Amino acid sequence: MMTTNTGRSLEDILEFAETLYHDAALSSVRDWKKTHPGRIAVGSMPVWAPRELIHAAGGLPVSVMGGGDDVEIIKGDAYFQSYICHIPRSTIEMGLNGSLDVLDGMIFPSICDVIRNLSGMWKLLFPEKPAWYLDMPQSFDEIGRSFFRGELLRIGKEMGELAGHEITAEALKESIAVFDRNRALLERLQEHRLNRPWMFPISEVWSVIKAGGFIPIEEHNDLIEEYIAAAEASGRPPIDNARVILVGSFCERPPLNLLRTLERSGCYVVDDDLSLGFRLIRGSVGAEGDPYQALADAFVERSREAAFLYREGEKGKELVARARAAHAEGVLFCAPSFCDPALLDQPMLVEAVEKAGLPWTAFKYAENTGQFQVIREQAGTFADSIKLWSVA
Ligand code: SF4
Repeated sequence: MMTTNTGRSLEDILEFAETLYHDAALSSVRDWKKTHPGRIAVGSMPVWAPRELIHAAGGLPVSVMGGGDDVEIIKGDAYFQSYICHIPRSTIEMGLNGSLDVLDGMIFPSICDVIRNLSGMWKLLFPEKPAWYLDMPQSFDEIGRSFFRGELLRIGKEMGELAGHEITAEALKESIAVFDRNRALLERLQEHRLNRPWMFPISEVWSVIKAGGFIPIEEHNDLIEEYIAAAEASGRPPIDNARVILVGSFCERPPLNLLRTLERSGCYVVDDDLSLGFRLIRGSVGAEGDPYQALADAFVERSREAAFLYREGEKGKELVARARAAHAEGVLFCAPSFCDPALLDQPMLVEAVEKAGLPWTAFKYAENTGQFQVIREQAGTFADSIKLWSVA
């Protein structure tokens, strides 16, 4: 059993992360609030939210990622039509069954019509709780930067009112620095994974990344470091898997067992867009000058390519560049059923990867999908064909 310098074994770290993964009732958040009386916990839907603002208000940022396969939908279906994705149903279900009552407010980023409708539904069902609809910039220039600073300032002001004290520039700069460290650690984790994917399987890596949505960011930083050390020390040997990139799962989460299925089918997932919000901004935000402007500038200037950001330019260029950097041999398009942003982008991304000579395959899931045999056969055949015939 390999242990880190803080004494936790790899098994302990993964058990901790996986417990958080399945903690639909947010007991970790409830525990935090008990030990931090008077402080706020604020939820945010995927993909990106200014978690730094919640932290600067002395609060706990919490990721609301739907119910996965842990929540039975009893009432949530009644609020939405059948031909949309699953995450709004489980979110409403968790709101109605009390799982999310520990949250003092919610942020809904403007990523698609479904989240827009969910935010309206949320405000009707829970009018006593503040809910912010965060409009993302649609122009990535001076106008967009100024607009987005205004949006962040609006939410920051109201977040301060909810917390009972104003968010000072100093506090926000300190919070940005802690999150910059988180971004740097996640980049370090990504480098390790690219170099030795057999030691950093996607199911583990994502459990560790996702844990950051339920614990204080300082603890998450420690967790990432511990995991890197323990996984490096594990001594797991390489096998002849195909290196692939996973694309399209940036919002509704796939079941953890779907990721394990990909591993078992012969794929090393060396890059992905899971929990993209944590890794959306490349590099540091920085703590110089006006911190609201720094956050807005970083978002506008250094966000990764994403289906919900309407940037001019060639779609798929960044995907191909990431695939090349990761020495990926193929692309797995893995989007939630009925996810308009992911599925509308897919043909353009497919065109780009085909032009680049990269093989690809595509399948869909819902967060509560329970059968993986078909995906295993498809991904396994894809991995085998790469190993046997690919020249990518
Ligand atoms: S899964 Fe896709 S369609 Fe559904 S809320 Fe997320 S981005 Fe919107």
